[in-house]
Amino acid sequence: MSALDSMYVEALDIFETGGTLGVSKDSLDSLPKLKITSENFVDCSGETIVCSVCLQDIQVGETARSLPYCRHVFHLTCIDNWLLRHGSCPLCRRDV
Ligand SMILES: [Zn+2]
Ligand SMILES: [Zn+2]
Repeated sequence: MSALDSMYVEALDIFETGGTLGVSKDSLDSLPKLKITSENFVDCSGETIVCSVCLQDIQVGETARSLPYCRHVFHLTCIDNWLLRHGSCPLCRRDV
């Protein structure tokens, strides 16, 4: 096992035992999912939605997640990985 591998394992242990920083997989599953279509891929000001985690535009046909309190929208996989570690919105830092 390389040094990198063991660091990764240790980081995972922190997620499992810490529990205060990120949200659980169960609470992730309860957050609303959004299928991006030609109707909702722009926000209310007509701008395409940019995922603030990976800084890419969210494309039609992709699955996104919109956070229930602030309504910010991110790629499903990006926001899930983020929330597991941080538990708050990457844009406005509101708790989820
Ligand atoms: Zn993304
Ligand atoms: Zn937000």
